[in-house]
Amino acid sequence: MSSASPVRYTIAPVHPEAHLFEVTCTLADPAPEGQCFRLPAWIPGSYMIREFARNIVTLHAEAGGRPVAVEKLDKHTWRAAPVAPGTALSLRYRVYAWDLSVRAAHLDASHGFFNGPSVFVAVQGHTGRPCTVDIQPPPAAVAREWKVATTLAPATGEPGAASAMGFGVYRAQDYDELIDHPVEMGRFTHARFEAGGVPHEVAITGRHDCDTERLCADLARLCAWQIELFGAPAPVERYLFLAMVVGEGYGGLEHRASTALLASRADLPYRGMGAPSDGYKTFLGLCSHEYFHTWNVKRIKPAAFTPYDLASENYTRLLWAFEGFTSYYDDLALVRSGVIPPEDYLALLGKTVSGVLRGGGRLRQSVAESSFDAWIKYYRQDENAPNAIVSYYAKGALVALALDLQLRAGSDGRMSLDDVMRLLWQRHGLSGTGVAEDGIFAIVEEVAELGERGAGARLARWLEEAVHGTDDLPLARLLEPFGIEYRCEAASQAPSLGVKLAGGNGEAKLANVYDGGPAQAAGLSAGDVLVALDGLRVTAAGLEAQLARRKAGERVTLHAFRRDELMSFEVELAAAPADKVTLVATSACAPAAERLREGWLGH
Ligand SMILES: [Zn+2]
Repeated sequence: MSSASPVRYTIAPVHPEAHLFEVTCTLADPAPEGQCFRLPAWIPGSYMIREFARNIVTLHAEAGGRPVAVEKLDKHTWRAAPVAPGTALSLRYRVYAWDLSVRAAHLDASHGFFNGPSVFVAVQGHTGRPCTVDIQPPPAAVAREWKVATTLAPATGEPGAASAMGFGVYRAQDYDELIDHPVEMGRFTHARFEAGGVPHEVAITGRHDCDTERLCADLARLCAWQIELFGAPAPVERYLFLAMVVGEGYGGLEHRASTALLASRADLPYRGMGAPSDGYKTFLGLCSHEYFHTWNVKRIKPAAFTPYDLASENYTRLLWAFEGFTSYYDDLALVRSGVIPPEDYLALLGKTVSGVLRGGGRLRQSVAESSFDAWIKYYRQDENAPNAIVSYYAKGALVALALDLQLRAGSDGRMSLDDVMRLLWQRHGLSGTGVAEDGIFAIVEEVAELGERGAGARLARWLEEAVHGTDDLPLARLLEPFGIEYRCEAASQAPSLGVKLAGGNGEAKLANVYDGGPAQAAGLSAGDVLVALDGLRVTAAGLEAQLARRKAGERVTLHAFRRDELMSFEVELAAAPADKVTLVATSACAPAAERLREGWLGH
């Protein structure tokens, strides 16, 4: 056997009603001392140990038609006993697929979806080999009209090769590629558009009334703008947006030539919709975010991810750049491609700023620390998260904003964060060389120096302090040269308890109790259910109105259930904190400011 002999996989939705995929993995020349197989513990892009192996229900090995003993070595590694030389070894297992998210696998009689890391074992020692995967249809009763949407390449020329959007054999250059193309099968809506000379596709699963023409037209502008930002040609031959539509949901995961999205039905555009609704802007922002990752994290990668170690945590302090910068550009691309007007963009940006200001965790954790601890904190948030964690997405986006504004203002608009992204692309994206933990600072220094002599070292140092420190960013001052006024006020005239209520069924249940707030001082805790304020019933919907009749400094008695015990708390109300930020473009500003603003938000 040549060392290039491919690893052959099959995957079949054998029992949609029981949510079971059956997978086989066959190797022509297993290791003589016994072949090991391992399933990833996490999926790139979602930085949490997920232990996909817990969904494997049954597992067997066979060779030459006879069973082979399999020993489990750890939570996600199996070793098959040695087989006679020249005999192919197959591992056959069933995977329970009932996770309606973009991260694992989901199967029922209406559709199937899977991410490679949750279903395909890696053959230890042979992850560099080419792979084929035979994607098989479900049982006949279910299969009518099912198609396949994936950016895996059909194994043209092989027996059983898939035709476009069909079941059959697909291929990948290696295991890393095999698991980076999610697959959808079912009766999805399919649409096409072109951007930057590249064919793009959209596949929408779930009941919906999406105006796909509108969606494709907006995505085309957005994608073309991003391709132009980094410079044509795009790094993909084709691109696929895979969307699962549900009543309420939100999520996305980036891949090298596609993205898997989970979206709320109401966020899709509908026929006759005029200006984009808030929900549609949210959806477009999500598409834009995942598409930007095609460059920033799928190809420009932290050195810590080259290669990924899928068996355990991969630590990097750089997610503020890979997720934060991506979060900055996701909405920015909407305005710069002309999909939304500048005032809509400033409203979205104001929301991001407010969201960061609302969490006291920003004063305790830097975005570098938040990146490093993503595995145990950002991805595993509990009721104390707002007090302990800063989002490397949201604050990372504000770091990007502050950097962009300084680069533009310092160079009179000649340089910007776009130049930083392009240089990252040239140095790291095209070559595949990972970005060192201090690599972004050096690139920023280089770009800043080109814009303004002597500014490079200063801006690099500023960035280092911003990502390793916990001070609020000086956004008001940085926005001023762009003719944008930063207004910060209380979100409500009513005094505050310093809590966030859980959404839902009318009960006033505390989701979060903010550090240093009145509720915490009085002894209230997350999980408590408020039932009365000064003897009058409290509901989630009515609490704000009750508080609005009081003043900061007044004392009220709150009754609340903690578990099943009724408790009473004396709370001194405080003024609502000033954490609602509005950004306003001033109409009469200096021509220099006008020019800077046009360069930043114009298209
Ligand atoms: Zn992201």
